[in-house]
Amino acid sequence: MLYDNHNRPIHYLRLAVTDRCNLRCNYCMPEHGLEWLARDALLTYEEMLRLCRLLIGLGITKIRITGGEPFVRKDMLKFLQSLSAIKGLKEISITTNGVATNALIPQLAQLGIRSVNLSLDTLDRERFFQITRRDELPLVLETMHTMLQHDFKVKINAVILQGINDTDIVSLAELTQDLKVDVRFIEEMPFNGGDHAATPPFWDHLRILETLQTRWPNLKKITDEPHSTSLNYHQHGHLGNIGIIAAWTRSFCGSCNRIRITPQGMLKTCLYDHGVLHLRDEMRNGKSDAYLTEKLLDAFGKRHKDGWEAEKNSAHTGDATSMASIGG
Ligand code: SAM
Ligand code: SF4
Repeated sequence: MLYDNHNRPIHYLRLAVTDRCNLRCNYCMPEHGLEWLARDALLTYEEMLRLCRLLIGLGITKIRITGGEPFVRKDMLKFLQSLSAIKGLKEISITTNGVATNALIPQLAQLGIRSVNLSLDTLDRERFFQITRRDELPLVLETMHTMLQHDFKVKINAVILQGINDTDIVSLAELTQDLKVDVRFIEEMPFNGGDHAATPPFWDHLRILETLQTRWPNLKKITDEPHSTSLNYHQHGHLGNIGIIAAWTRSFCGSCNRIRITPQGMLKTCLYDHGVLHLRDEMRNGKSDAYLTEKLLDAFGKRHKDGWEAEKNSAHTGDATSMASIGG
């Protein structure tokens, strides 16, 4: 088991495989997209597999594949196949926008992938277009239903934006009534790639909860799984649960078990840090596994205690970082 300097176990890696995307969500990037990383700036699949093997050897048991949109990267399935063959890895999960995912679901199931987070901020087609700048809601809904048919554990992620989809909180949460999905509302974080000024979110976890409790006064707080980032609730008779992720408020840092690797191979030990170890450059400079292990352990031993401390010590506060280049 791997522990950081605050005695928090680390067993979860979020691996962002690309910064590119087939949507342009306004909380993530500007309408024209980002200055995409050059192909040779991205970690190769071989480099990713090498890092995953090393980290699994150190104690990582769960890897979430994210991006950008993971399925816009070529040969993603082949990579997942190689990843799933690594001994010691207990779980692979994926975060996707669902646009190019539907046809791949049977193959994901075959690889033993059982858990997918699907981003869906509204059930209204026009508002979906307004947020993502693409008219893809029907496809995303189809993906959700296919995943449920294949018995995936589906979590819907919705970022709540003032005056845009705040009226969707209840209708999204109502999905939990008849579908076995968990719906989680996320506070907007300051990583929109420069689309707009990053201010503390109007829709924080308390306001979101208030709205849910107005609709369901008997909404019950349930026990959160260890290391959960969401505060979870259940409405009697519903098939799924409702969660709120206080991503801006950062109330979950005390039990944070995760690290991140960005598409260009930067290790982040906190979502709000600026990157603490350039793994790609170390690998391309010919460094050995033993050297990388030493550097990784050193970084885990110097983790910030929470996102506030990491942000304070990070050079990128207030700049135009996009969540697509972090991985969520
Ligand atoms: N493209 C995939 C998707 O959208 O599911 C995976 C990458 S996306 C960056 C991962 C998660 O980050 C999504 O659930 C998305 O809603 C969330 N996200 C993106 N920008 C955000 C922001 N500024 N604040 C909060 N969550 C954000
Ligand atoms: Fe793409 Fe996901 Fe960012 Fe939306 S949140 S633009 S789907 S990477």
